[in-house]
Amino acid sequence: MSELYLSCPPLADYVEEISEVAGYLWQKGWAECNGGNLSVDISHILEGHECRFEKEEHRGLDHTYSPLGGHYFLVTGSGYRFRDLARNVKDNACILRVDNDGSGYTIVWGGGNSPNFRPTSEFASHLSIHKLLLDRGSDERVVLHTHPTELIALTHFPEYKSESAINRALWGMLPEVKVIIPCGVGIVPYALPGSQKLAEGTIDAFNRGHSVILWEMHGCLATGKDAIEAFDQIDTLNKAAEILLLCRAAGQHPSGISEVQLKELVKAFNLKE
Ligand SMILES: [Zn+2]
Repeated sequence: MSELYLSCPPLADYVEEISEVAGYLWQKGWAECNGGNLSVDISHILEGHECRFEKEEHRGLDHTYSPLGGHYFLVTGSGYRFRDLARNVKDNACILRVDNDGSGYTIVWGGGNSPNFRPTSEFASHLSIHKLLLDRGSDERVVLHTHPTELIALTHFPEYKSESAINRALWGMLPEVKVIIPCGVGIVPYALPGSQKLAEGTIDAFNRGHSVILWEMHGCLATGKDAIEAFDQIDTLNKAAEILLLCRAAGQHPSGISEVQLKELVKAFNLKE
């Protein structure tokens, strides 16, 4: 790993951050077994550096992602665990380069010594989101998917299956939620993990203006400028879900922060809605 850092020092910070966030996800209990995945578009970091990569394993993609041709991604492995990633990025994630025509990719670093290493099974969804972010000219380069316990629990409640109802409830629990996620969370109805339907529902939710998406009875997906920003949004939302469930468990149905108080927050913090 050190040779890679010597040839491309800025990459060291990114790899360290991935490892830090992977540790948080495990400590939070949001990354049981091999649950969750993460990808980072690191192309901008590699610009101007002569990185010496150590391997070349080519694979095809089911769809073509022409706009992402030539982009480099740091991606977690399929079937690998966040708790292992926290200790060792090189064996549990990889760096890959998307072919110039976007029809495949080459793994150039990481993946341990396993010839069967593959990027996350949700890689197609990740690429669709990275393509969307690129089209928008966004500076968000991270896509993070994890299983935040209390948020998932809320998606089982019939009254929180609509975006307006769940956002009103979450914003009402503490002011931070409206400040950090002013546009609220998007909801995608249950769909088979890794399916095109789930990927398309997620893209639709992003197009409705959300940067955090709840997959019903499954988990959460967030984008961010870096992995910490993506994690912080999910962490803030899950805190609200925890408070809501604590109140419900104590027999209370909190009315939460009022509409007038929310409007006051929007004005005071100059939030976009
Ligand atoms: Zn999942």
